Amino acid sequence: MSLPNKSAVVTGVSSGIGRAIAKSLTGAGWRVFGSVRKEKDAGEASAALGANFTPLIFDVTDDAGVARGAAAVRAALNGETLGALVNNAGIAVGGPVAYLNLDDLKRQIDINVYGPIRAVKAFAPLLGTDRALKGPPGRIVNMSSVAGKMASPFMSPYAMSKHALEAMSESLRREMSAHGVDVIIVGPGAIKTPIWAKADDFDFEQYRNTEYFADLERMKGMMQSFGAAGLEAEDVGALVLDILTAPKPKTRYAILKNKFAMWTLPNLLPKRMVDNFVAKRFGMKPRAA
Ligand code: NAD
Repeated sequence: MSLPNKSAVVTGVSSGIGRAIAKSLTGAGWRVFGSVRKEKDAGEASAALGANFTPLIFDVTDDAGVARGAAAVRAALNGETLGALVNNAGIAVGGPVAYLNLDDLKRQIDINVYGPIRAVKAFAPLLGTDRALKGPPGRIVNMSSVAGKMASPFMSPYAMSKHALEAMSESLRREMSAHGVDVIIVGPGAIKTPIWAKADDFDFEQYRNTEYFADLERMKGMMQSFGAAGLEAEDVGALVLDILTAPKPKTRYAILKNKFAMWTLPNLLPKRMVDNFVAKRFGMKPRAA
């Protein structure tokens, strides 16, 4: 497998993991095109990331905006292929399934699932499906989560979105093999980023009059400590650089603290046993049948 060109599009670089990926790639001499949604974030990111960085301004829910971003990158690459597309932008929405606000769910899917699909549609030609471009085919890195394989209580919208992203990634990897474009999933556990504190994505007030409200309040409190106990965003930034420079990357990378207890074991044990651990972790008391 040939190594890709040292150019990448990273979505969602205004904070957290996306910023850390942009930093690690620009630091290694990559030319990074990073998406933000606001003009002021474009200026801030440019100042922080230096000359190897070019901001793109689009919301991943906006087809026309994403297409404009792709046109700008095509012009800048001047006939060369793009080395990587990192679909990182995302939000985390929760809520109990039995009362779920479907508009919240639609927004979650629009950003975390349709967003990466919009980006794939716009950037696939640059990654190498357009055979008129010069250079090796690029790679796609999709930022999933532990939630791409396991679903916590009250986080079904987020878990559904990441499960869907994983399925999309697998189909895409098989479709793209004909073009030499590899597709790699990164599944982090808790990482210290602003996502844990973004209260607007956690509007649990709407569930106040449900029997789940006490559970939700307790969980909201726990979220802060889960996040604070996580790995650094820079750890994911370094991993993505490794993935993009590895001669033969794996198809999926799990990156988290306590990997054996929080990932390996729950994937091996019977689901009902894991249910008991999850209930304990979230302070829930299953009712005896
Ligand atoms: P973050 O909130 O710091 O960053 C999210 C980024 O996505 C921001 O730059 C934000 O502006 C951008 N974004 C959000 N909605 C957007 C939209 N509609 N259009 C364009 N950009 C948009 O959070 P983070 O933790 O760095 O999250 C980055 C990715 O990592 C997400 O996909 C998230 O699901 C995933 N992830 C995070 C963790 C964690 O513990 N932090 C764990 C597993 C996976």
